[in-house]
Amino acid sequence: MRVSKKAILAELQRVYPDAGPELNFSNPYETLVAVMLSAQCTDKQVNKVTPALFAKYPTVEAMAAASVEEVYPMVRSCGFKTKASNIVEACRIILHRHGGQVPGDMAALTALPGVGQKTANVVLANAFGVPTIAVDTHVFRVSNRLGLANAKNVEATEEQLKKAIPQKDWVAAHHWLIFHGRRVCHSQRPACAACTLQGMCKAYDTAQKTGTAVLSPKAKKETASAAAAAKKPGKAAEA
Ligand code: SF4
Repeated sequence: MRVSKKAILAELQRVYPDAGPELNFSNPYETLVAVMLSAQCTDKQVNKVTPALFAKYPTVEAMAAASVEEVYPMVRSCGFKTKASNIVEACRIILHRHGGQVPGDMAALTALPGVGQKTANVVLANAFGVPTIAVDTHVFRVSNRLGLANAKNVEATEEQLKKAIPQKDWVAAHHWLIFHGRRVCHSQRPACAACTLQGMCKAYDTAQKTGTAVLSPKAKKETASAAAAAKKPGKAAEA
């Protein structure tokens, strides 16, 4: 099956012309806090807690002066207490090291507690307009299924996507892939029958040829482990 990456990207753009951030924020400080809260949590849930949070702590200075005990009850529905302590600590560092301004570079962002490369990429793209491709679970899954990447981890996926996609489209492509992952190409049960990219999709093509379903990354791992175990001496004899 030969499909150009350009054709896949053009179809994603056609289907999701208005794709963009689904978190609500209005400045770099709010972007950073919202993205930190969104790790292992839905954007919808984050959007429920941030209006009250940003009303009470509208600036880096206000958050830096807060105690974790005050902040945690307000963000509890988004996850562990560590998130609250990371946010407060990150704001204290931003206040003291960066004059209260969220830094706009990767090294300074990833030096903050609770901020990894993916979070930093999202902040850089959305708050500073820096061209990046943040690879979250949706971008990883969908880009590898479609064949835009062929990688086993997020770092390699990011590198391959940067090569496959023109830099001017990096931020938009990140949103196209997230929208497709949330709306159609679900992890467990991708809606291939309703997918307009079906005829261009490497995973769908493979599934058709092998007579299997498109597998979730977890199911793929389990199938690979089972196949490896079956090949081990002794197992083969049992079979
Ligand atoms: S055909 Fe299926 S696996 Fe491929 S992108 Fe569409 S929904 Fe995902």
